[in-house]
Amino acid sequence: MAEEMLLVICDGCGRPIDDGEGFLYVELAKVRDLWSAKADEDTTVLSLESLMSRPTRPTWHARHTACAPDDGGDAYDVPVAQVRTWPRLATTTARLMSKNWFASTDWNAVLEGAASACGRRVSRTAMREAS
Ligand SMILES: [Zn+2]
Repeated sequence: MAEEMLLVICDGCGRPIDDGEGFLYVELAKVRDLWSAKADEDTTVLSLESLMSRPTRPTWHARHTACAPDDGGDAYDVPVAQVRTWPRLATTTARLMSKNWFASTDWNAVLEGAASACGRRVSRTAMREAS
């Protein structure tokens, strides 16, 4: 039985990303912002103001290397080849789970999208070529 291949869709141009041509990434600066906000919550009384200014959850993006913003920011990259099949996606997820910041990110939404065939970043292919 052929392994099901997953699509990785570029946020920039909306086209699929081939192996070696792009990656999923999360900006580590956003992870650090969230963590420092959590530390503040432990020491100060929560106010509406502090809730409104909470940093948003760090989001995974998919980009072609050519479409990636080159802003010099520190990002954690996962090459698309590492999420191309279900076994690779599971292996990559297991590896990421060892990172202490990983649970703060929206990787769960990446997985849900992949399973539902309507993911914006990783998706099942609606039609598979006969092999
Ligand atoms: Zn692109």
